[in-house]
Amino acid sequence: MIVDVALDIPQIDCLQYELDCQRALNEDVIGQWVLVELRSKLTIGLIFRVCESIPKVKNLKKIIKILSNLPKVNSSWLRFINFTAIYYHKSLGQVIFTCYPNYLRDPKRFLATQKIVKAGSFDALLREPQHDKQQTKVLFKESTLNPEQKKATGLIMSSSKPILLHGVTGSGKTRVYLSIIKSIFQINQTAQILFLVPEISLTPQLEEIFRKEFPNLDFGVFNSSQTQVNRSKVWLKAARGHLRLILGTRMAIFLPLPNLELIVVDEEHDSSYKQVEGGLRYSARDLAIWRASKLNIKIILGSATPSSETFLNSKRNKFKRVLLKKQASGSPHAELVLVKKTNSSYVNGLSEKSVSQIKKILKAGKQTIIFLNRKGWAPVMICKDCGSSATCKFCSANTVLHKNKNNWVMKCHFCGDKTPPPSKCTDCLSENLVSVGIGTENLAERIGRLFPEAKILRLDREAIRGRKALQDNLKKIRAREVDIIIGTQMLTKGHDFSEVSLVVVVEVDAYLRNPDFRSPEKLFQSLIQVAGRAGRRESLEKNLAKVFVEATNFDSSFFDHLRNYDYDNFIEAVLKERSKSSLPPFTNFATIRLAHKSNSTLSLGLESLMTFLKNYDKSDPILEDVLINGPLPVYPEKISNRYRGQVILESNVRSILHKLLKNFSKEETFIKKFNASIDIDPIEI
Ligand SMILES: [Zn+2]
Ligand SMILES: [Zn+2]
Repeated sequence: MIVDVALDIPQIDCLQYELDCQRALNEDVIGQWVLVELRSKLTIGLIFRVCESIPKVKNLKKIIKILSNLPKVNSSWLRFINFTAIYYHKSLGQVIFTCYPNYLRDPKRFLATQKIVKAGSFDALLREPQHDKQQTKVLFKESTLNPEQKKATGLIMSSSKPILLHGVTGSGKTRVYLSIIKSIFQINQTAQILFLVPEISLTPQLEEIFRKEFPNLDFGVFNSSQTQVNRSKVWLKAARGHLRLILGTRMAIFLPLPNLELIVVDEEHDSSYKQVEGGLRYSARDLAIWRASKLNIKIILGSATPSSETFLNSKRNKFKRVLLKKQASGSPHAELVLVKKTNSSYVNGLSEKSVSQIKKILKAGKQTIIFLNRKGWAPVMICKDCGSSATCKFCSANTVLHKNKNNWVMKCHFCGDKTPPPSKCTDCLSENLVSVGIGTENLAERIGRLFPEAKILRLDREAIRGRKALQDNLKKIRAREVDIIIGTQMLTKGHDFSEVSLVVVVEVDAYLRNPDFRSPEKLFQSLIQVAGRAGRRESLEKNLAKVFVEATNFDSSFFDHLRNYDYDNFIEAVLKERSKSSLPPFTNFATIRLAHKSNSTLSLGLESLMTFLKNYDKSDPILEDVLINGPLPVYPEKISNRYRGQVILESNVRSILHKLLKNFSKEETFIKKFNASIDIDPIEI
């Protein structure tokens, strides 16, 4: 029997091998993990199909071993992999091995048959018979829901469409998720549930909730920060159907789950669901929607601020929107106040109004969050005489001034290079250099001077390194060990702090100047998210909870919507604008990016890429329906001494883009010489 085996190699989908078992049925073989030889090395592969035709080469290599300890995957998972490979223009193997644990790639693990294995070890787990385990009934108590949550649960259970669970912060989305999960377990005793979160840091909170709600549940966490052994255990148990609930980050979407019955994508608007680097650049949210629809199972996309794509899908009735409008505690939003920047904002980092409000909060024994999404001391250092700024030697980007204890250093946020601050301007040799703008390090010092009695915590990726440090500091906040928290984006991601009564957002103007068409949407989402940290509980009743947004001018309608927490009208306006300018989600984008160490070689490469795309089969009229924009710069144009450039493809008809890209993905020269990468539905262009 000749079989097609998918291996973790680029561009080639499958290689043919001979399998020594004449009478096996195709269904018994397809989806089996196998050990084969590739370039005289043993490697793991997956039998993707049985070949009916005559082999392309004589003397095919034989499959060395069928790995019966690894769970055979089913045909629906193979279809999902096949779709992903076609959609993102990658090989089957590249998709299959995206979440396959490295620990299980070692052929030795499957060859040492005589070895005695220790009970409870990973090898013992690996050798467990596949279908030995009896599914235990998941035990739980009925959820107590308020009328709105009860109604939402009913609507979700009775709908066959993907669900957008649009619930304001504090409306109890998690309670609704739990009640749906319970309903699924009630209907199906073997059901598996995949619960996706955008950030690893959000898992401990949810893990605690799940363990409390389902005391006897076989539950697993799957993400990139766990040890190889742990990840392998979870992968194995999930693929065998033994784990009933898996909490994971984006790559968990690729887990083989034989009894999958529900997918939850929490905070679906979060850009972390998109893999933006490396070989396979995928959107876990979009793949989850596809996977659920083919399996005909339920999918819930939850958010207080749904993405424009999801919102449009619900408007077009492709998704069913279920609303949760009430905060579970019954209290309204914290009042959102627009505060004009004053001289004090520049000198002290905050306006007088914000300062006096913080004083009030401190007196009441509550906490304040100050949100500034910019790390470091100052984003740029410029020469007062000629106006040039300090840049990185290896990248075409400004270096950022940092202060670590009492050491000053210039850091490049793209390549990580560190240099001492310059004493002279590199262009005119003037010594008249100044830092411009303010980052979290600088703000924390100023706040320290304004409130010398307060305990201050800075929460950004420079101050808090690693998952444990973040968890420890989040605990400190919850235990009320700090009074003022100064933080970046890290703070906005769904963390629940009950004692925070005031949120102050500074330097909003800078984000609104960002030319990316997605930036107003992203900004609005993160402001609503961070505003939701204020007054989660009792402080609202005392009328203390407030959100202050500092900026220089509030003329745009952006702020009218923001002041009223009016997400619907804001996103409607965004969609109107996008439709008028023919931007996603009203059209489809794909980018091809090239990189090279020589700028002139890159330019030639981009030119020949343009020619290649424009000369696509002239007899095929598809070119009439696609816009080929380029060559265009990528910001920053140079990273680590490599210049970058791109071509943006645009079409109303997605299949046309794919046709063009399929043709391109066979062109090895671009891939080898220019490290070409394709990004479908890019989130940054
Ligand atoms: Zn100068
Ligand atoms: Zn750099």
